[in-house]
Amino acid sequence: MRLGEFHRFAAGGAEFLYLVPSAAIFALDDVSRAVVDALAAGELAFEELAARLNRRFRASEVHDAVFELRGVRAVVDGEMASVRQMPPANFPLSTVVLNLTNQCNLACTYCYEYGEDKIVDTQFGSQPKFMDAATARDTVEFLLRESGRRAHLTFFGGETLLNSPVLRETIEYARRRAAEVGKEIDFSLTTNATLLREEIIEFLADNNVGVTVSIDGPREMQDQFRVFHNGRGSYDVVTPKVQELLKRHRSRPIGARVTLTAQTLDIRRIFRHLRDEIGFWEVGFAPVTTAPNRAYAIEDRGFDDMLAQFRELAGEFLEYTVENRHHGFSNVRDTIEELHQGMSKSHPCGAGLGLLGVSTSGDVALCHRFAGSETHKMGTVQTGIDRLVQIDFLDKHHVDDKTDCRQCWARPLCAGGCYHEAHTRYGDTQRPNLHYCEWIRGWTDTCLRIYGELAMRNPDYLRRLNREEHHETSQVSK
Ligand code: SF4
Ligand code: SF4
Repeated sequence: MRLGEFHRFAAGGAEFLYLVPSAAIFALDDVSRAVVDALAAGELAFEELAARLNRRFRASEVHDAVFELRGVRAVVDGEMASVRQMPPANFPLSTVVLNLTNQCNLACTYCYEYGEDKIVDTQFGSQPKFMDAATARDTVEFLLRESGRRAHLTFFGGETLLNSPVLRETIEYARRRAAEVGKEIDFSLTTNATLLREEIIEFLADNNVGVTVSIDGPREMQDQFRVFHNGRGSYDVVTPKVQELLKRHRSRPIGARVTLTAQTLDIRRIFRHLRDEIGFWEVGFAPVTTAPNRAYAIEDRGFDDMLAQFRELAGEFLEYTVENRHHGFSNVRDTIEELHQGMSKSHPCGAGLGLLGVSTSGDVALCHRFAGSETHKMGTVQTGIDRLVQIDFLDKHHVDDKTDCRQCWARPLCAGGCYHEAHTRYGDTQRPNLHYCEWIRGWTDTCLRIYGELAMRNPDYLRRLNREEHHETSQVSK
């Protein structure tokens, strides 16, 4: 007998194993801890193990512990054959991210659509600058055809609200068609907030549209990169509009989505400003996606700094959650939910699987970040998903084919990381994002500890997650 693959961690005065690849979390009692400790030195037959532990535990206790540990594959016999798990062929589509336009009234320096790392030529390329209403209706029909009982439609850009007439028309159309075919449909959008005005806010609130605002924090951080085409910062335009949105749109919680760069890494301050001073319900952070040599790219020390600040906020999240108070740090909440669902991914995200992006012409792509790219096209909304392309993509991007990831305990959640990041960084969507492994493992370990603490100190919070609906793409990353 020997140990299987797991990550061991302590939290709330107890010890746990995070089991790979099942992604189950197993609490150790005294006997199972002793078994794991004994096997940590090397393989043992059961009789040898029982003999080693016989001063503390009866053989029957050791037997029961081994039986349980074997059941979760924390203890294994001989070589473990790894079975390649592919998603089922008829995996339903749950989310379409619809690019209403590829144009933007801001010119954020780091933008993957307009900045130095863009994939699609949105200025002189073949994609129309705005999606027309007929293509948007075809997209709705495509989603309703391919989805299960529930469908999510997320509007995106460029700046989404530059095409608000098609936004309004599409929501009305989609609501009517979903009712006709007996499905539930849910709407969300991402915006830079510069074009919010009273009647749009009313419309979003009345139609229960989830809103995520791309915003980078206090004035000096927002105005570093999130600028208009003439170079003027957007903070003074955005802030009053966001405050109006938060005041009027009460039907769904509004989130902020922050892009972190080497120059704007004061995460605590950004969080306090956006949650406490502006009033967002939740704030999520993502490091900028960029080639390594860009001035705003986050490198090793930046990732360490980011992790330290994330840990501090996660600790605060824990204390709030233990007292059943809302905190609003969405990165930790999202990971806790994934851990609770026992998510073990064969692929890093839903792109090309449960989530697809649709370009302004109606081309279907891996996700919104690839929408309009010929190389990453997977069909059209009129002709449907090209299943051969999809199967080939999923086969080539399986975590089992990423050599470094095969040995990594964080793979159930990471599975190699974002394809777009890999494309930008290495020019190849198949490459794992090895530049941020330490950060991913450090952050996953932190979230596991928070999970363990919650299991000990507020198990009701975790139980409630079973009943809550997960808005998996309410924050689509810009
Ligand atoms: S990219 Fe790195 S952290 Fe992620 S699964 Fe692969 S080896 Fe692990
Ligand atoms: S993680 Fe990357 S590849 Fe996946 S949906 Fe998000 S941007 Fe697209």
